[in-house]
Parts: sequence; structure tokens; C-alpha cells
Amino acid sequence: MSDPAPDSTAATAATAAPATDVVARARRFLLPDYDDRAAAFWTFLVVLGGVALAHATVHAVSQSWLTIGQIAWATACAAWAGMFPVQLPRTRHAFAAGEIFIFVLLLQHGAEAATVAAAAESAIATWRASRRWSSRIASPAIAAISVASCGAALDLAMTAIADGGMVGGALRWAAVLGCAAADFAINTLLLSAVLCVKRREPLRLAPWWRDFSWVGLVTVASASIAAALAFSAEKSSLVAPMMAAPIIALFVGSMRLVFRQQRADDERQQERLETAERHFEDTFTHASIGMALVSGDGSVLRVNPALAMLLGASGDSLVGKSFVSFVDATSASMLPGRFAALLAPGGQHFQLDVRHRDEHGADHCWSLFADVFGSDRRASGCLILQVHDVTARRQAEERLEHIAYHDSLTGLVNRNRFHDMLAAALERSHDNGQARFAVLYLDFDRFKLVNDSLGHQAGDEFLVLVAARIRESVRRGNEVARLGGDEFAILLEGVDAHEDAPRLAERLHAALGRPMMIRGTEVVPTASIGITTSTFGYLAPEDVLRDADIAMYRAKSRGRARHVLFDSSLRAHISEQLTIEAELRRAIETEQLGFALQPLNRLAGRQLVGFEALARWRHPERGWISPATFIPIAEDSGLMTPLTERMLDLSCRQLVGWHQRDSALEHLRIHVNVSGSSIGRPGFVKRLEATLAATGLRPSALVLEITESVLMERFDSTIETIGQLRELGVGLSVDDFGTGYSSLSYLSSLPITSLKIDASFVRRMTESRQDAEIVRAVVSLGGALGKKVIAEGIETEAQLKQLKELGCEFGQGYLFAKPLDPVQADALALKLLATGVAAAMPHAAPPRVQADAA
Ligand code: C2E
Ligand code: CA
Ligand code: CA
Repeated sequence: MSDPAPDSTAATAATAAPATDVVARARRFLLPDYDDRAAAFWTFLVVLGGVALAHATVHAVSQSWLTIGQIAWATACAAWAGMFPVQLPRTRHAFAAGEIFIFVLLLQHGAEAATVAAAAESAIATWRASRRWSSRIASPAIAAISVASCGAALDLAMTAIADGGMVGGALRWAAVLGCAAADFAINTLLLSAVLCVKRREPLRLAPWWRDFSWVGLVTVASASIAAALAFSAEKSSLVAPMMAAPIIALFVGSMRLVFRQQRADDERQQERLETAERHFEDTFTHASIGMALVSGDGSVLRVNPALAMLLGASGDSLVGKSFVSFVDATSASMLPGRFAALLAPGGQHFQLDVRHRDEHGADHCWSLFADVFGSDRRASGCLILQVHDVTARRQAEERLEHIAYHDSLTGLVNRNRFHDMLAAALERSHDNGQARFAVLYLDFDRFKLVNDSLGHQAGDEFLVLVAARIRESVRRGNEVARLGGDEFAILLEGVDAHEDAPRLAERLHAALGRPMMIRGTEVVPTASIGITTSTFGYLAPEDVLRDADIAMYRAKSRGRARHVLFDSSLRAHISEQLTIEAELRRAIETEQLGFALQPLNRLAGRQLVGFEALARWRHPERGWISPATFIPIAEDSGLMTPLTERMLDLSCRQLVGWHQRDSALEHLRIHVNVSGSSIGRPGFVKRLEATLAATGLRPSALVLEITESVLMERFDSTIETIGQLRELGVGLSVDDFGTGYSSLSYLSSLPITSLKIDASFVRRMTESRQDAEIVRAVVSLGGALGKKVIAEGIETEAQLKQLKELGCEFGQGYLFAKPLDPVQADALALKLLATGVAAAMPHAAPPRVQADAA
């Protein structure tokens, strides 16, 4: 058994002594690194071992010559075996077959003989294994102590155990194995104790067992072989010596084989480890991403060049610093906890985005990946961090997200994002009744006018300006979105959202109502606003937007530039609108939609000059539905074109019938109302031409009425069509004149044939001087521009008289006739034929007409 290699770290020089002192010199030579205590312990063991060996030697030589010869032979064998130690795997210790001879001696000649052999074997083995005299002396001494003491105990036990019988045999075996175990324990514990005292460490059993367990096993195995040989020699003096050599050879051979195999495995393992280490070194040094090894408390043990470059410092200067100090405060507050959790049992590697500010003050985003370094979590206590600068990628991601969720023109959030925010607000309001919200839905009233008349760029400018005004009116934390086109929405959140919403709407009207200059033109933006609130218990964001939209439409239909709070009756209203829409579509396709004809008269002499065709709808269940109800619905649902076409077709056929009946009726004209949406449609003129051709009506007999507001709103988009209509020879009349603030310059440049003074002026004219003046102005304007002037809604003789005095030439109204059904209108035309003058028949006409009579 060899002593562990010298321990160079524990060095306590021997205390100084006079150079002349032989003891001191011997001690400096033998025990250069032993302190007093260790030296005393060593000396004690050596003396004790020496005494044991001396006693054993004296006892051995006092035996018979044959015994002395046997002892000498076995001792020589043991010592010779000590020359060929078998290295034990994973320890610094070796085993030699000498143990077997020592135990054979012990069993055959007693403790003293075994002690001599043990000391000799140990001396030879240690001589070869160690250069230190301390070991070369202590090891044989300790071997002598342990074999002498255990051997004496075994001698006693063997004498006490009665020979013969199964029990006696088993007990003898047990005694031998116990003795071997004790010998192993005493020997190795004393060796460890010397080292521990020298290093001033307590003697710990766990490391002792880790180092020496193999030695124990081999010692017990050797003792078993020795016992087998000794016990069989007792029975037959021939068998044992014959078997000894092959058994020992087999034992030692197999031991060598097993241990060599194991050592080879260990070496391969070691090689693998070294290769892995080299690979790691290469990766660590040449990696393009930053890497650091840090201890559990985050202090840097190593950084690679890539990380040093990210930090703008040399690798060495970073060692010892806390990794946490490289990142911003928020990230820094998180990291220590995450590191500790990572090292704790069951800890998981993690990835985290952290912020770093470089020496120039620029902010970077790092993707940090952390894991335990090495495969053994508990043994490691060290973390490996990988750092990737992902600033550019994160910025690109943020930009992409911004694009995905924002409107590029105004920078406001877009419909998708608003939808998500609304969903979140809904969820909050479901979780907590206090988390109320309101949504305002804005739609600008004349955006199309700006877009059409000033161009799309002006339209964009308008949207940017109004978006800014909306944002300024809204408190921070409340989101403004552009839903598309000229539609905006605001999400108001908070306890007071319900009460604040109408107040905000007021503020918006005020802020938006300030005139703005767009490309040199003054524009006064007004918006219609619909409001709904979380009180309606919405489930989906779409429902919220739908109701806000309904309320907004209501605001529009109530005259624009106002706001309307949603209530459930609006929903009913909308669903009725939808029903009417579907029915109207059918009505236009079938004969349900007809027309009434209201006579137009020359005021002087009340002569019939024509008719105005007015749409009439007799619903199978609801009865007569007013144009005031269905015309706006047709307008909103794209039904205006087929409706207008039907009206034109009916009117043209009716008039052609009269023209063909008698030349005295040929001067009759017919006025047909045309909405902005149908005249703005491409192909309108073509279809009109086709209708004229199909019916054979001369174009000059047809007059299209366009309201003044439509004309002004769609000036740019209709001017071309109007030109084409005029070329065709069709007359054009401006309806409801005086209500649309048309600019005189537009008016004079348009090929218009007549102006229709709005009924409201006629009604107020007799009382209001101002209205009378307006009528006078329109009449003189018409005269100056060469356009006919027609007064609408004449109900009294007084109005008629005044209009004539003001110089108005034509008129219509209940005073002459209510709108007539086609049969009544026919009768009126016939009367004209008979009398030459078709006088008014105000009392004869029923208020409503039979549509199907058309
Ligand atoms: P409008 O073009 O200004 O038509 C005149 C309206 O005044 C008609 O109402 C007519 O019945 C009514 N009226 C005529 N004389 C008098 C009177 O002396 N006193 C009063 N209080 N009212 C009088 P109606 O038929 O209900 O039509 C309403 C509006 O519906 C029309 O106003 C027109 O804008 C629209 N409309 C009717 N038919 C059509 C159509 O075929 N196409 C288009 N685009 N709009 C139509
Ligand atoms: Ca009209
Ligand atoms: Ca009118």
C-alpha cells in the first residue's frame, strides 16, 4: 500500500532548531513540511510500528528452523509481490498480491510472522511508489501496527473458536474476514490521519471511503484466498501449496485485467472531456455572439472577445465585475433572482431581452440566454451567458408592428388595433363593472366634397389636420383611431366615460368647427358623431362599433354636425330601414313603384305648361310610403339609379303619349328629379339617350331637376355630365334654389335652363320682407342669366299675386293642383285640349295617386 503523493500546498516549515542538533537535521530531512503536531504524530506511529516489528521479529526468530524458513520464504514472496503493484482505478493507490502471503502467514504462524511480512511488503511497495522518506518509513510502521493488532485479535479468536463442525468453520471464516476488514480500516485510517494532521484538517470518513473502498475490497478478497489456502492446508498438506500459485496468479491476473479495462475507460472518458473542453474553448473564443461565464452571484469569471467588443472594454478588465452592472436598472433588478433560480434544483435555462447603454449613450437591446455551465447543475455553481445584440431586429419588428397597427397618413391607430383595444376594454368591463367605456364614432360631413373638388392630396391634408384636432381634444390615455376614409373613433375609458362622452363630443364640434385653409380654400369641417357606451352589455367589439355607427348615421340624418347617443330604439329603426330597403328593391322591380304628376303653370293665365314627376310607392301592407322616407333609403342602398331610370321611363312614355295625341299638347314638358348619386354614375347619359330613343321623346321636352346642394357638392364630378346633357338638348333645372348657397360664378357658367325657388321662401314671402327680397333677387338673377324661374309650393292667391308682382313667370303648388295620379293628369291634359287653357283644379285632386294607374 503506498502513501498518497506529497502535499505541496500545505506547508508549514519545521520550526527552526540549532543546526548542530541532529534531531532537528533529521527532521528537516525526513519531515520538511510537518509541523510540530504532525511530526509528533508521525514519530509516535513510527515508534509504535517499530516496537511491533521488533517484537514480531524477536518472536519469529525464536521459532524452529523450519518455521523460520517458512516465514522467511513467505515474507520474501510478499516483498517480491510488492514489486508488482496493481494500480487501483480512480485512486492513487495500488494493490499487491503480497497481502495473500501475509494472511497465509497470519493463519499458519500467527500475528508476529504476518507483521514481519507486512512491514517488508509495505517497505518495498512504498520504496517504489514514493520518494519521501516520511512515507517510506511511516507506511511499513503503520502496516506493522495494523497487522500486529488485528493479527493478535485473530489469534485470540481462533484459539477461542472450538475447532471442527460447521459452526466452528463459519466462525473461523468470519473471524478472518473481520480481521481483514479491521486491518484495512486501521491501515488506511492511520495513513489518512497522518495526512489530515499534517494538513490540519479533520479526518472525514466520506473522502476516506471514496479513496480506499477498492483497497478494502481487495484486502478482504486477498484474506479470503489466504483463508481458503490455509484451511485446506490444515486438511491436506499437499493441496494447499500446489493450489497456491495458480490461485494467486489467477486472482492477480484477473485483478489486473479488470483494473486495466477500467483505466482504459477512464482514459477514454478523460480524452473525451479534454476534447469537449478544447471545443468549448474554440467556440468561446471565436464565437460571434457575446459569451460570459459568471458565478452564481453574477460576477464575471470570463468573457469572450465578442462580448468584450459589445461592452467596448478589454476582456480582462471585465473579470470580477458584476454582469448586472452592464444592463439597465429594470433588467438589473430581475437578473439576480433569475440567476439564483437557475442554479436552484429544477432551475430552467432562460432567455430574456435586456437593455444596455453603450459608452456613447446609445441604447441597445440584448437577447440574453442563460444556462448552468457544465452538465452538473449542483457541482457547477457557474453560469454561461450568451448575449446577442438584437437592436436592429427589434427596431424592425417594432416598425413592422407600428405599420400593422397604425394608419400611415395620420399616425393614429388603425381599425385592427382599435378592434383589439375595444376587445380588451370589453373584457375589463366584464371583469369589473366599474371599468366603463364609451365609443365615439365620427364621420365628416363633407369630406367627399373636399376630395372631389380640391383633389385627393387636399383630402389627405384635411384628414391630417382634423386628426390632429381630434387628438388635441382628447385627454391622454384615451385612444383615437382612424377606421378608414373620413371615419374616426375614440375609445374613452374610466369611471366617468359615460358622462364624459357627450361633453367630449361638444368639445370636438367646437374644435373641428374652426375654419381651416386647404390649398387656398377655406373649409369648415363638421362631423356627425355617434356615441355608445358599455351600459348596453356588449359581447363583441363589432357590436360596439355597429351601434356607434348607427348612432352616427342618426346624427347625419338629423342634419349633420351633431352627435347622437345610441339607444336601442335606433337599432329598431335601422332594422326597419333594412326591411324597407329590401322591399323597395322589390318595389322598383315590380309595378309597386309608380309616379304622380304635379302640374306646372304659367302664372299669368294659369296655363298648363308641364308636370313634375314625383315618385310614389304603394306598399302592399303599409300603404303609401312618403318619398321623404324611401328616397334617402334608396340613396343609401344604391337603389337610386334603378329608381331614377324607372321614373324617367314612366315620365317619357307619359309625355310621348300626350305629344302624339294632339299637336296642341306638344308644348308640354316633364320635370324629373335626379339625385346626385344617379347623375354621378358613369353611363347615365348613355342610358338616358337610350330611354329617349326607345320612347321617341324629343329631348327638349325633358327637364332634369337637380337640387342645388347636390349640384354644389358634386360640382366637379357632374360638370361633364351636365355638359353632355345640355348637348343632348335636355333641360336642366336647379331644384330647391336658395338653400344651397351656390356661387353665382358657378351658376352662370353652367348650362342651366331654369331655377326653382324653394317652397320655404314662397311660404314665408308674404310675411317676411327678407324672403320676398330673396325671391325678387332670384327672379332678377334668372332674368339676367336668361333662365326661367319657377316658384314651388304656391298655396294661396296672395302668394300667387305677390310672385306675379315680383316678376316670377312659372309656378306649381296646391293652389293649382296637388300631385295627380296619371289618370287625373290625363284628364287635365284633355281639358287643356278642350278649352285651350288648363286652369287649376286644386280641389279636385286627391292628395295621393294610384301608382298602378301608370
Ligand atoms: P321636390 O322635388 O321639392 O318636390 C316637391 C315636393 O313638394 C313634393 O313632395 C310635392 O308633393 C310637394 N308640394 C308640391 N306643391 C306643394 C304645396 O303647395 N305645398 C306643399 N306643402 N307641398 C307641395 P313629395 O312628392 O313628397 O316629394 C318630396 C321630395 O322627394 C321631392 O321634393 C324630391 O326631392 C323627392 N322626390 C320625389 N320623387 C322623386 C324622384 O323621382 N326622384 C328623386 N330623386 N327625388 C324625388
Ligand atoms: Ca323637384
Ligand atoms: Ca323642390
